[in-house]
Amino acid sequence: MNDQDNTAATDTSGGKEAEAVTFSDLGLGESSLRALDHVGFENPSPIQRSFIPKALTGRDCTGQAHTGTGKTAAFVLPILEAIDHDLGVTQALVLAPTRELADQVKCEAERLAYTSPIRVACFVGQRDMDRQIRQLERGVQVAVGTPGRVKDLNNRGHLIFDNLRVVVLDEADRMLDIGFEPEIRDILRRCPNNRQTLLLSATLPPSVERLAKKYMSNPDRVDLSGDAVAVDSIDQFFCTVDPDRKFGLLVRLLSEQKPTQVIVFTRTKRGADSLYRRFSGGLSNVGVMHGDLPQSKRERALKRFREGQIRLLIATDVAGRGIDVSTISHIVNYDIPEYHDDYIHRIGRTGRMTSDAKGQAFTFVTREQGDELTRIEIRVNKELTEYTVPEYEAYRQRSPRPTVNTVA
Ligand code: AMP
Repeated sequence: MNDQDNTAATDTSGGKEAEAVTFSDLGLGESSLRALDHVGFENPSPIQRSFIPKALTGRDCTGQAHTGTGKTAAFVLPILEAIDHDLGVTQALVLAPTRELADQVKCEAERLAYTSPIRVACFVGQRDMDRQIRQLERGVQVAVGTPGRVKDLNNRGHLIFDNLRVVVLDEADRMLDIGFEPEIRDILRRCPNNRQTLLLSATLPPSVERLAKKYMSNPDRVDLSGDAVAVDSIDQFFCTVDPDRKFGLLVRLLSEQKPTQVIVFTRTKRGADSLYRRFSGGLSNVGVMHGDLPQSKRERALKRFREGQIRLLIATDVAGRGIDVSTISHIVNYDIPEYHDDYIHRIGRTGRMTSDAKGQAFTFVTREQGDELTRIEIRVNKELTEYTVPEYEAYRQRSPRPTVNTVA
């Protein structure tokens, strides 16, 4: 049996029609929902939409996800659902490649356990082992650590694996790159057989696949990377713009590009509504779709878009994600997306035409958002081309720094 046979490839849409998916649809309990509300996570990110419902079934799962996609909460929330908060023993173990990452996981777990606090501790090298042992003696329910120190503490009889219900390998590819494979294998061999194993990795090279095959039981796969392949058929541009000139830029871009059909993405529902109001004054072929609109209205907008009566559709990520209309020639990211995976999903709405025409995607970027653009470029493994609309100054030139005259 090859590696593929050992895993059940599944859809990446997160099951239910994505546009309606909220955290409560994912199967999380009341306590997690209150914690999410408290930390201010409004909607699940793509990896969370896909991964959480699968992990909550108790099956082993692998998820391909990069840092910055919300992957930590994607495995922390299922851990919090799986463990018994009243039981003081160690029930979940998260292995991470670096101290920094282990610290981040610990913080996220504590934040998300806000309504039902649990004891989380970090076990990483080059930190006081006696202190770590004292923490373990007091009782740690979720242990997070680097493989070397975790194995060491287990060898010495302080970190007990007998009661583990969930084991997570976070950034598995990086852990193997660093050379942690022997420790990881040792640790997994010592864990109870009936545990759940979750594996997160930015890439799934053969070494990771082998590990999954050996130590996971028929894992369910969440693979959002297939979408990345599709983005090759799309020309991707960015436009530098001042926030107050975005609308002007959009109007000129549209009149210059003359799209057959276009989706303009905003980050928020309010942003979508306000853009819609600015447009629809004079135009009947503009529509809007976001999660606050009644289902009937959203369906009507989608139907009119499909039939070509609407040529410009303004949408939020959640609403726009499920749209599959083959005549979409252009995507405009009026607001840069919050998550890289949303970028892939947004631009993946175009480039689906049966003709040879390539889809065109434009991302508006303010000068403060340079880092966000870079992160997208890393995700799609491609530099976006700068695009300027002729004869439109989308951003003000900054006046040169005044020179200070000094007296010698
Ligand atoms: P991660 O990819 O897990 O490192 O997460 C990146 C950042 O996104 C962290 O600061 C998280 O707290 C934050 N985050 C994760 N999920 C969400 C969400 N659904 N909504 C808003 N922020 C989130």
